[in-house]
Amino acid sequence: MNRPYFRVLEVDLSTGKSKLHRIDGRAEAIGGSGLAALLFERFGRVDLGWNEEEQPFILAIGPLTGAFPWMSKTVAAFKSPYHDQYTESHAGGRSALALKFADLDGLVITGRAGRLSSLEIGSRSIVIKDVSFMKGMDAYASGKLLRRMSRGGSGHRSILRIGPSGEIGSAMACINADTYRHFGRLGGGAVLGNKNLKGIIIQGDGSFELPDNSEYKKLFARVYEQVTATRMMHKYHSLGTPANLQALDDIKSLPWRNLQQTSDPEGIKGINGQRFADDALLRNGACSGCPVGCIHIGYVREKFSEDNRYIYRQVAYDYEPVFSCGTMLGVTETFDVLNILDVMEKVSLDSMSGGVALAWATEASARGLISEKETIVKLAFGEAEGYRQAARYLGTGANTFYRLLGQGTLKAAEEYGGAEFGCVLGQEMAGYATGELFFAAQSLGFRHSHLDTGGYSYDQKHEEKDVDKAVDFLMADEPGRCLLTSMVSCLFARSVYTEEVLGECLHALGYGEVTDKLAAAGERIRARRWRLRFATGFKPEDIVLPKRFYKVTTWKGPVDGDYLDGLRREYGRRLTELVKEGVDSET
Ligand code: SF4
Repeated sequence: MNRPYFRVLEVDLSTGKSKLHRIDGRAEAIGGSGLAALLFERFGRVDLGWNEEEQPFILAIGPLTGAFPWMSKTVAAFKSPYHDQYTESHAGGRSALALKFADLDGLVITGRAGRLSSLEIGSRSIVIKDVSFMKGMDAYASGKLLRRMSRGGSGHRSILRIGPSGEIGSAMACINADTYRHFGRLGGGAVLGNKNLKGIIIQGDGSFELPDNSEYKKLFARVYEQVTATRMMHKYHSLGTPANLQALDDIKSLPWRNLQQTSDPEGIKGINGQRFADDALLRNGACSGCPVGCIHIGYVREKFSEDNRYIYRQVAYDYEPVFSCGTMLGVTETFDVLNILDVMEKVSLDSMSGGVALAWATEASARGLISEKETIVKLAFGEAEGYRQAARYLGTGANTFYRLLGQGTLKAAEEYGGAEFGCVLGQEMAGYATGELFFAAQSLGFRHSHLDTGGYSYDQKHEEKDVDKAVDFLMADEPGRCLLTSMVSCLFARSVYTEEVLGECLHALGYGEVTDKLAAAGERIRARRWRLRFATGFKPEDIVLPKRFYKVTTWKGPVDGDYLDGLRREYGRRLTELVKEGVDSET
């Protein structure tokens, strides 16, 4: 359980060859985010574009996976097709535990297969198969077929795959992880598509020993008790993250209709968490190793014969997809939202990016900047059928307009106009119109995820406009999150896994050296990731904030543009300083 080094498998798709590496640096890099950065430094090229053959696609897990609850995430790292910079995307599902059972801390995929292929890895095997016949196949069908084609039926098997959007190189293409989870943001699906890789099957076919001592058993019981006893556990299990829809609407922080509003008290009644649970919830699911089970799975039905016969499909829903394909599009019926999400799943688009991009296209249509010549179908807020069709056009790159939009809303706006109302914060926004600090933090955020920092939470508690105090908060908040993502903990567990508890868990598994250096680990890993980001072209001053964000009204009143600009300048300056200090201290 407690190797002092990392065991990493490298697979070169160009040659079909693979190599097992024993890589030092456990105490400094820990795993997850830290390991991914370490591996990119070793295998990646900051000077080459994201689509060059030798660029790696990296998966990394942490030291506590398989031994403690909630250590359920896998970190993917790559150069992003969205902005050609180093980034991470995280997913739950079964991949973390499958990698653990395959006896790997990390997987590095380089090269490009000659034909569309699948890669199956296990503890003692690597198989690359030609799957050219799966070209253009949607993510559901691909998952079913890859499952059938792979050996065994182990509960520790994980299947990652892409749909058509990844094959056409959309910067919004996600990687579907075990059907209900995703490496969603920043175009990981296009990275696999560029490698001609339709799917990755991870066979967790090995085994590992857990410590057989009372210290470990007692600690496990204590952590498990804390996880399952928290109020948060109840919230995430019962209504799930969609519980936040009503809460954010109530405080005028929920983006509606391309962020022209931040609240719609009538509309939200149709798609709040309770309404989804009452109308459409089929069951809950959980990532491997998670006792909470926040995954909410609803259903859609499709008529396939005149004598009223239907097929049913299960579709996962969370807060963010309901925001992007619901409120942002003015769609206020649960099944309408699920039907749009169903198409996003099939084409394997990041539904957050896809929904926000379609919201921009709707407003651009209303303002006469584009017409049905571009959108093919009429787009109007609230009209779900148009969005269902448009999601397919976007995910399959049906024409020049949709192919450009798939590279990013602001890329399309460069061609057609309308940049001022593109809801882009570095990437298409997450669903939090909480105010100035969130807008500043997400636009300069590492993953462009609302969980990069607690900016959304700070906005909800602070009315004062003190730039230094707010940026101090961001700078102090991020290292703790980096530590957790290096452990690959679900970030919903952050109140349970304090630094002290993490130290105890590591100690119980025999990672004494990691425990000794834990206090500074989050800071060190944060600096390492940002160094890579800057080295691949990130310049805070280049990030454009569309005017729409300056016109938002939240519970605090209208956004204060001077405060927002002050936050962006200061946060950008501190990040630049952080990287410069790190470089100076090494030279
Ligand atoms: S709380 Fe949800 S996202 Fe987090 S590990 Fe559990 S099931 Fe996965």
